[in-house]
Amino acid sequence: MKKEHLKENEIQEYVFDFRNCNYSIIQHIDNCNTCKKAVTDYTLLSEGIKTQPEPLLEYDLAEMVMAKLPAVEKKPKREYNSSGLVALILGIIGATIYLFKNNISTLVKLNDIATYLIISIGAIIAVLWIADIVKSHNKKINSIYLQH
Ligand SMILES: [Zn+2]
Repeated sequence: MKKEHLKENEIQEYVFDFRNCNYSIIQHIDNCNTCKKAVTDYTLLSEGIKTQPEPLLEYDLAEMVMAKLPAVEKKPKREYNSSGLVALILGIIGATIYLFKNNISTLVKLNDIATYLIISIGAIIAVLWIADIVKSHNKKINSIYLQH
């Protein structure tokens, strides 16, 4: 048996890692009421941490907050707007290609203003599109964080 009382880390070893615990530590605890008390305290503490209804509380709180936020109702609407925008862009691109399908090869070859216009519109649409995708992605990420 060890003469001195056990150190904090030895008591923790006994409580949390009993299988790998040094035999001298086990012996000491069996014979020392002071260290046995410390072990009991640690056990109660660890059980207290395990059984705390904290996740339940957080869940209920999050649900309450979500229920009161008008953002919950806005979320699907925003996604609808986003997909509507994407559909609109696809429609414009499709219509452009359809209207100019006979002229596209000519347009690409010619360095006239129409080519620059189409390229510019395409670039603007691409930028807006990417910005919208990023924005809605961020919104989804935020709503995920709000839910958990
Ligand atoms: Zn002791």
